[in-house]
Formats: sequence, structure tokens, C-alpha cells
Amino acid sequence: MISLGRDDEQPAAPGDARTAELAQRLGAVRRRIETAIDASGRTELPRLIVVTKFHPAADVRRLAALGVTDVGENRDQEAAAKSADLADIALQWHFIGQLQSNKAKSVAKYASSVQSIDRLQLVDALAKAIAREQDATGRSDLDCFIQVGLDDDAGSHRGGASPSDVEVIAGRIESAPGLQLSGLMAVAPLGADPEAAFEKLAGISEALRAKHPTATGISAGMSQDLEAAVKFGATHLRIGSDILGSRPAVG
Ligand SMILES: *Cc1c(COP(=O)(O)O)cnc(C)c1O
Repeated sequence: MISLGRDDEQPAAPGDARTAELAQRLGAVRRRIETAIDASGRTELPRLIVVTKFHPAADVRRLAALGVTDVGENRDQEAAAKSADLADIALQWHFIGQLQSNKAKSVAKYASSVQSIDRLQLVDALAKAIAREQDATGRSDLDCFIQVGLDDDAGSHRGGASPSDVEVIAGRIESAPGLQLSGLMAVAPLGADPEAAFEKLAGISEALRAKHPTATGISAGMSQDLEAAVKFGATHLRIGSDILGSRPAVG
């Protein structure tokens, strides 16, 4: 066999069938975002974070070849392995899942943002880990989003700090060198109207910005509800299944 100098583990050839599928799905999502932006009267496109959890590094490589610059992951072990595999390409890795404080050190090695900050203890752990990483490698500051819970009823809880705790967490982030307060992240409660949820989030964001004017980020909107998120000011969208397909079952 003639070697073409390409590792079989890393196909990402522009012509392969999976790349074509991803290109088509990514294009469809981009058109949905543009349509939603036009309908909202906004002019600036939100940042698209493609959520690649449970999908292989080869798919992330294909997406990068299609112009994707931002990827989201929700488990440290998986994100650490994929970002190491793909260290040769410039990607921003966003951590969007529940995070134990003892994983802060690992996340500090690859994440450009952590979007799921929900408690003071995690802020302190990240501050310490980033300080150490900055000493060792000179890495950039970590963009920090406070995840806020939007459900009124505890039965449908999908994580996040209570809105009344946002201000104290924001203050702690702002006082930590190496951490930048970017804004808020939320997941619409299951079974609830996403527009109502994201309208509530916009209100919480307005209150945050009154005290922290640069914390303008609103990370909201997934495959099912990106239009509602755009309507209520999302600056970051986190889209997984509509681009990558359904997630492979985990054994
Ligand atoms: C998985 C996940 C997403 C992406 O959801 P899709 O419905 O697959 O688009 C977004 N945000 C968070 C926090 C997630 O865990």
C-alpha cells in the first residue's frame, strides 16, 4: 500500500461521507441562526459552540476543517483526551458540564471558558488552578460564565446557581486574578416554555450587567430552542445533536 502520509485515525478528508454530513447539518444550523437573528432585529451573530460530547475527536477535526472554532464538552476526562489529540489545531474548548472542584486543575490545561460555574468553592478551585497554569505556561485568563437555574419548581432542576446567588459568585470571580467574568449560562427547564425561561435569563443578565458592565455574555440555546435564545439576546449558542446527530449510547 502506498502511504499518503496520513494517519488512518485522523481521516477528516474533505471528501469523506461523514464530513459531507456534518457540512450539511452545520450549514442548516447556521441558516437557522441567521434567520433567527434577522427576525430578532439584531445584527451581530452569536458565537456558535458546537457541543461534541460523546462524539470522537475525528469529528471535531472534521468540524474544524469546516470552519468551526469553538467546541463544548461536559466531561473532563473526555475533553482532556480530545483536546490533547487535537493539540495541533487551534480550537477554543468550552467546559459546559457539572464540574467537581478536584477537576479544576485538569480543566485549566485546555479550557478557554468554563460555563457551568455554580458555586463559590468552584470559583476558588478554578482561581487556584488557573494561577498555577499561568505561572507554568502563561496561558490566557479563563472566561467564566455563571450557570443559573431557571426552573421555579425544584422537580425539573437542570443545575445552576439560584438567581439570588449570582451576585456573590460574580463578585468572587471578579476578585480572582486570572478569571474573567463573562456572563451567564443557562439551560431551559425541561417541559417549560423556552421563551419564558430565556426572558427570565435576560432579566438576570440585565441585573448582573448593572454592577458588572463587561459581563455581557448570555450562553443559552441548544438544538431545540436556539431561536428562543436568539430572540432573548443569547451571545453564545451551544448546539450538539442538530449538528452531530444523536449521541452514541454510552455503555
Ligand atoms: C449537551 C448539551 C448541549 C447541547 O445540546 P443539544 O440538544 O444536543 O444541542 C448544550 N448545553 C449543555 C449544557 C449540554 O450539556
